[in-house]
Amino acid sequence: MLEAADLVIVGGGIMGLSTAYQLAKLGRFGRIQVLEASYLCSGASGRNGGGVRTQWSSATNVDLMKESLALCRQFAREHRINTWFRQGGYLFLARSEATRALLEASVETQQRCGLPTELLDAHRARRHVPELCLDGVLAASYNAEDAVVFPWPFVWGYAEGARALGVHIDTFTRVLGIERRGRHLEAVVTERGRIATSAVVNAAGAQSPEVARMAGVELPNRPHRHEICATEPLKPWLGPLVAELDGGLYFSQSSRGELVGGIGDERGPDTTSQASSARFLARYARALCRVVPRLGAVKVLRQWAGSYDLTPDHNPILGSVDPVTDFFQVSGFMGHGFMMAPVIGRLLAEHIATGRSTELFERWNLRRFAEGRLLSEGMIIG
Ligand SMILES: Cc1cc2nc3c(=O)[nH]c(=O)nc-3n(C[C@H](O)[C@H](O)[C@H](O)COP(=O)(O)OP(=O)(O)OC[C@H]3O[C@@H](n4cnc5c(N)ncnc54)[C@H](O)[C@@H]3O)c2cc1C
Repeated sequence: MLEAADLVIVGGGIMGLSTAYQLAKLGRFGRIQVLEASYLCSGASGRNGGGVRTQWSSATNVDLMKESLALCRQFAREHRINTWFRQGGYLFLARSEATRALLEASVETQQRCGLPTELLDAHRARRHVPELCLDGVLAASYNAEDAVVFPWPFVWGYAEGARALGVHIDTFTRVLGIERRGRHLEAVVTERGRIATSAVVNAAGAQSPEVARMAGVELPNRPHRHEICATEPLKPWLGPLVAELDGGLYFSQSSRGELVGGIGDERGPDTTSQASSARFLARYARALCRVVPRLGAVKVLRQWAGSYDLTPDHNPILGSVDPVTDFFQVSGFMGHGFMMAPVIGRLLAEHIATGRSTELFERWNLRRFAEGRLLSEGMIIG
């Protein structure tokens, strides 16, 4: 571990590592230190469903994800690691009038942004997944370019790439405090010692409020447990990831044949606990069998949980915070931070290296909550 660094990144999840890698690639920063409290895939980045999509309701997210999807596609070649990238599309189903209207408006936005997304009736949706029972489905949207990946190689690929460019990454090194004098940061204190630094990135995911508080900054994020499971492998039969915005159900088939899926639960606990529950399995199984009845015979092999990192308006917090110089935030990515990390890491690295700000850093700045400028994004699963 370094004794002094030009930048310390707290959190070795996909956000921290992609930012570290992109900064090192720019070559404008000296010593970069990433500190991870546990092992590299211990947070949400090692526990997610690997869904990567461009179907969003806001043009901002569509445009960001167009770039991020392209970065995901070329990741395997750049990092020389198999990502199990599978471009089978995403099929969104609407079961209420409100969701049908949301899909209609979102498809229009996506088409304006140059995506080939189609709005479908239930009959045409079944062409993509003949096994679907579409009773009660009012509309669907489909984009063949959306994809699923296996998340771990992205975490490992960024970590190896960053290390090769000189970044120091220390696991099992929890940050306990941040020393600050007036507006300026002076050091990060860990369980293994102190690192002098004047610049810190808070990439601690669902624990980002704790880390921000160490520097005297309050974030409005809250953790929310999100559960997920994988079945025994089946022969390939499911093309797209299927998602229901109304009930928060989603499932896809991985390249290894497993069905990987979950369901949102508003009554789930606001906690960073990664415990699994029988309640989840019952709710997921019921919802899944309603959409594909024959899946009732399939065995679940593994179930696990991770934390969504929720903000009050379901949009992230990115960039500087007013009372502290060079204390950069990259948190609040709920159920879609994995897919956004490639593009967000690139943008944040450029912002840190050059000081230049784009409209996104204003839009997603922490101060919007104090100013009452809340944002909206309707196409959030779970
Ligand atoms: C079940 C589930 C399914 C999901 N599905 C998808 C999906 O299909 N597609 C998608 O794009 N996104 C999905 N997500 C969301 C996605 O996983 C997250 O948005 C993303 O991984 C967040 O990355 P992160 O780096 O911000 O956080 P994390 O991966 O949680 O990393 C933060 C790291 O900070 C470390 N840390 C915390 N406190 C400290 C400290 N004091 N000192 C040092 N280190 C610290 C933690 O140990 C952790 O490793 C899902 C999430 C879950 C839980």
